[in-house]
Amino acid sequence: MDLEHKAIMRLQEAANLSEFYYQKPLLLTYSGGKDSEVCLELCRRAGVPFEVIHSLTTADAPETVYHVKRVFHRLELEGVKCEVLYPRYKGQPTSMWALIPQKLMPPVRTVRYCCQVLKEGRGKNRCMVLGVRRAESQNRSDSGVAELPGKTRAAKQIFDFDNGDKSIIAPCQMKAKIKIHPIVDWTDRDVWNFLTDAKTEVNPCYSMGFQRVGCVGCPMADKLRWREFRQWPKFENLYRHAFARMLEERKARGKESQWKTADDVFRWWMDDKNLDGQLDIFGREVGTDDL
Ligand code: SF4
Repeated sequence: MDLEHKAIMRLQEAANLSEFYYQKPLLLTYSGGKDSEVCLELCRRAGVPFEVIHSLTTADAPETVYHVKRVFHRLELEGVKCEVLYPRYKGQPTSMWALIPQKLMPPVRTVRYCCQVLKEGRGKNRCMVLGVRRAESQNRSDSGVAELPGKTRAAKQIFDFDNGDKSIIAPCQMKAKIKIHPIVDWTDRDVWNFLTDAKTEVNPCYSMGFQRVGCVGCPMADKLRWREFRQWPKFENLYRHAFARMLEERKARGKESQWKTADDVFRWWMDDKNLDGQLDIFGREVGTDDL
């Protein structure tokens, strides 16, 4: 069976589950990136009822925001329900720039509180479709076609969906969120071949040479962030201002800081090794392991 056919079968099976357990259509999380673009086209081809949500992170490139707006406009004309979710924290509207001072530290690879607040936690009592792929990262290499999330990553349950494992929801778990990953086994090449064949209009950030279109300055992008900040310099300013407010907040709360200025924070965050006595997130001086 080819990949597209297999993914469509997964979506059709998931749509049945969604109707059976929740009496609602599938809920596709659309980020504006290539993987969610594929999932969107596959939902159309599968002929299943679906709705679409997009989580506004407040740190997305303007091109991504406008792309999502265009796609949602087209979907609404097709009669698909679309919703943009605005981030909230502790019951209040928030943003990346408000979170940084509140959390007293910049988001880093090992502590991605921003994803938890700005992107995750959606879709309770729903069967969700996500463009997760094993080939994306080590973190996702153990992803299944169908999952029930647990309280921790280790506690998640994976189901052999392709081979008819229907034990995905026990009655006591009816309130759980089901995650369906229809393209979990696709490679980058599969994704691009599909989008090219489908003549899909993709996020313009790709034609600007970016291979990922997450938040500008995402710590997961590592050194590519320098290029992102050259392309969108206002975001660097937003981070620097947020770091300055973070330092004020740390001082107000009597927290010691390894940084004196917002520039210190920015250079530490970008892992600029030029800062004297630079400390890593665990308070060790960078480079001491080599001594
Ligand atoms: S994509 Fe990156 S910057 Fe954006 S919310 Fe997630 S971890 Fe944070």
